[in-house]
Amino acid sequence: MKKIIICVFVSLAFLSCQQTQKPKAEVEPTDPKATEIWKPIPLKVDPTGNNGVPSDAIILFDGSHFDEWESSIDQGPVQWILNDDGSTTVKDKTGDIQTKRSFGSVQLHLEWRSNPDNKAKGQARSNSGVFLQNRYEVQVLDNNENSTYVNGQAASIYKQSAPLVMAAVPTGEWNTYDIIFRAPEFDAKGTKIKSGTITVLQNGILVQDHFELQGTTEYIGWPKNKAHGPAPIKLQDHQDQSGVSYRNIWVREL
Ligand code: MG
Repeated sequence: MKKIIICVFVSLAFLSCQQTQKPKAEVEPTDPKATEIWKPIPLKVDPTGNNGVPSDAIILFDGSHFDEWESSIDQGPVQWILNDDGSTTVKDKTGDIQTKRSFGSVQLHLEWRSNPDNKAKGQARSNSGVFLQNRYEVQVLDNNENSTYVNGQAASIYKQSAPLVMAAVPTGEWNTYDIIFRAPEFDAKGTKIKSGTITVLQNGILVQDHFELQGTTEYIGWPKNKAHGPAPIKLQDHQDQSGVSYRNIWVREL
């Protein structure tokens, strides 16, 4: 009897081993055509065909109106300042603003300018922020000759990831952020099954390299991972007379 049991075990182990073995690699082709892929053909995008922005982008702000935006407080009209130069400046204590549309994964372009008259220290100097899906903040801050905790400085993923380098232009000049955001995924029970990721180029320089989000970017406490779907893009009113301005905001849905 003992022999039979041992025999069955050995046979099962052998079978399971055979099942997990990978098939032998195919013979490497010698014809260059064997490794060519012709379809599907990528869609054509005109890089500047939509009033200077990519033809498949949604223009969120071109300096002329706030039609794509609302107050985060009451979903009412935006109260930020519309400037003559095609930018908007945070109107202090009027609250964050957010897109009326909700987004999943996106490529987002925007430009921001710190306030040269803001001489406050640390986190109080031209603090704003770009929130993906209303939850994940890429920090906006004037860090020129102004130190703070590195996972809270400009181009950080707030309280999670310091930027790879400091790539800001001088205070008062326009910075660009090009952000590639992949939204986190949750299963039907609300458990996160895939982390979100953020890549950021500041002024064309890589500052966040496919960073895997730990959850929401909290001021106090640990990141949270409550399930959610598409959500607005939000710009922060830090409520300390930051004077930060934004312009030329567009987004491509991925
Ligand atoms: Mg901020």
